[in-house]
Amino acid sequence: MNCVVCKSGTTTLGTTTVTLDRGATVVVVRHVPAHICDNCGEVYLESDASKQVMEIAQAAVAAGTVVQIQEYRAA
Ligand SMILES: [Zn+2]
Repeated sequence: MNCVVCKSGTTTLGTTTVTLDRGATVVVVRHVPAHICDNCGEVYLESDASKQVMEIAQAAVAAGTVVQIQEYRAA
C-alpha cells in the first residue's frame, strides 16, 4: 500500500518493535509484524497485531507490571 504520511513511499512487510507507555507501565513488544514505509519509515500495524499488542499492554497494566519486554506471538 502507499504511505499516507509521506505519500511517496510504499510499504513492505517486516517487523518492528512497539513500545506502549501506559502510566506507570511500559510494555515493549518485539518483532511485531508490520508494514513499513520504505521512504519515511512510518509503521502500520495490521489490525490483528495491533489488537494483540493492546491486549498485552492491558494485561501488563492490570498486573501492575512496571516494565515488560517480550516477543510478539501470533494469536
Ligand atoms: Zn512514508
